[in-house]
Amino acid sequence: MTEQITVIRGDGIGPEIMDASLRVLDALGADLAVDFQLAGLAAQDETGELLPQATLDSIERTGIALKAPLTTPVGGGFKSLNVALRKHFDLYANVRPAISFRGSMSRYENVDLITVRENTEGAYLGEGAFTAPDGSRAESKMIATRTGCERIVRFAFELARRAGRKRVTVVHKANILKDVTGMFLSVAREVASDYVDIDCDDMIVDNACMQLVMRPERFDVIVTTNLFGDILSDLCAGLVGGLGLAPGANIGEKTAMFEAVHGSAPDIAGRGIANPCALLLAAAQMLEHMEKHDKARRLRVAIGDAISHGDRTTPDLGGQGTTETFADALCERVR
Ligand code: ATP
Ligand code: MG
Repeated sequence: MTEQITVIRGDGIGPEIMDASLRVLDALGADLAVDFQLAGLAAQDETGELLPQATLDSIERTGIALKAPLTTPVGGGFKSLNVALRKHFDLYANVRPAISFRGSMSRYENVDLITVRENTEGAYLGEGAFTAPDGSRAESKMIATRTGCERIVRFAFELARRAGRKRVTVVHKANILKDVTGMFLSVAREVASDYVDIDCDDMIVDNACMQLVMRPERFDVIVTTNLFGDILSDLCAGLVGGLGLAPGANIGEKTAMFEAVHGSAPDIAGRGIANPCALLLAAAQMLEHMEKHDKARRLRVAIGDAISHGDRTTPDLGGQGTTETFADALCERVR
């Protein structure tokens, strides 16, 4: 069945990697009807607004957005357009798979884990202030709610179950931040008791950092609060070959947004050498969200195969290909 998605081509390398990705999705037979909408600098240039209502309406209607990186100009009324989109649609779960691809110039070959980051609470509310007239003191707030903790942990266990994963590791700092992350840990333990088919353990965040670097293969699904999730998921991206291979999904009750983790890479924009894989791996997450599991699997296999053969890959992967030739190599494999 053809399903509608909202597509935002974005800024910088965005249009290059999005057009390449859509070509690969087309070759895959993903059967998507694309509603192109604007956001970021491209939107400002055309409509005078960074986040036009038409874009929000489209995402509201389709429930699914595939989004390339956006530039948030300073002084445009937004701290971050990505955060604004997450807030608007209450996309509370940030899901970042980190999977090793053979031949991707990373240090490990056996990483296969998913970080689930709480996206709406914790230390990320932007509520902080300088509290001395001379600016010599600053404070910021952290928040946790039982509802917020419970929905993210439940999301992680449901994801583990659906994806046939065996273990969920709760990462926290309850020994020091006893209130906010203590609540997260105790709610997580309660929720875990509803999922006897999945192992649950917990780990203090500093230890988790060390274990991830020493024995990344011991991890399966990680669930954690906002700030720790931010840091750990980038760490995990580093385990598997960096930004060009790191996708992310932001999921709420009614809406989901899929994106590359990297930014608009202005340093290489317009040169045709950007790696489309992070966005394509996000598209694979999107296909899974749409229950197109076979297509998602074929797309991932194609990416893994092209990378391991170094077939027309982009320079960040050690290749001499371009965004276009890499997309050609992927199109041939997904047909
Ligand atoms: P933004 O301000 O939009 O976040 P940035 O300057 O922080 O952009 P990123 O886009 O996050 O930068 O990229 C960091 C580095 O990684 C840059 O050198 C960039 O060229 C490189 N990079 C990012 N994405 C890709 C990609 N898809 N393919 C190749 N290189 C990439
Ligand atoms: Mg950046």
